Amino acid sequence: MISARKALELLRAGNRRFVAERQRDGQVGASRREEVTERQEPFAIVLGCSDSRVPAEIVFDQGLGDLFVIRVAGNIVAPSQIGSVEFAADRFGTRLVVVLGHSQCGAVIATIEELVQRADNPSPNLRSIVDRVRPSVESLLSMGMAPDATLVQRAVRANVRSSVDHLRHGSAILEDLIARQGLLVIGAEYSLDTGRVDFFYGAPEET
Ligand SMILES: [Zn+2]
Repeated sequence: MISARKALELLRAGNRRFVAERQRDGQVGASRREEVTERQEPFAIVLGCSDSRVPAEIVFDQGLGDLFVIRVAGNIVAPSQIGSVEFAADRFGTRLVVVLGHSQCGAVIATIEELVQRADNPSPNLRSIVDRVRPSVESLLSMGMAPDATLVQRAVRANVRSSVDHLRHGSAILEDLIARQGLLVIGAEYSLDTGRVDFFYGAPEET
C-alpha cells in the first residue's frame, strides 16, 4: 500500500513532468495494460470536474491503473461520489483523496450567474449540481464581494474546500479511515493557464 504522503509526492512529480512537457512513456501501452488486467492498485483517488481541459490522468502524467478518477461537473459531492470514494479506499486501500477544482470552472460561473442575475435554470438535473455549488458562492456574496473575476477565483476554491469537508464528514466509513488508517482528503486547484496544480487545502508541505 502506498501512503498518502508518498501518493502526494507522486502526483506532484507527475504534474511537474506535465508542465515541463516531459511525460513518461509506456503508461498506456499493451504491456502496462497486461500488468493491470487482473488487479488494480490505484495510489490516489481524484474527484475532479468533467471539464474537457482537466483530465486527471494527463495533468498528473499517470497511466492505466494509477488513479481512481471520479469526474462530475463542478467536482461536487453527492451520495454517488461519496460511495465511489468509499469503494476505492476500502477495496484498494488507496490512502489519498484529492478534490481537484480548476480556474474558470463553468459550473461555478453558472452558479454565480444564477445567483446574481437570477437566471432561471430549466433543468432539474443541472439544478442539482448548481444547488451543491451554491452555498460556497452565497457565503462570498454575503460578504459583499462583487461578481467579478476575483469572485470566480475565490468561489472555485471555496467550492473545493466544501467538497473536501463533505467527504471528510459525510461518511462514517471515510471518517474511520481518516482516524485510524491514515486516509488523507485534500483540495487542489488546476490552472488552465499554467497547467500547474496547487494543493492548497489540507496538504502537507513538500519535503
Ligand atoms: Zn469545471
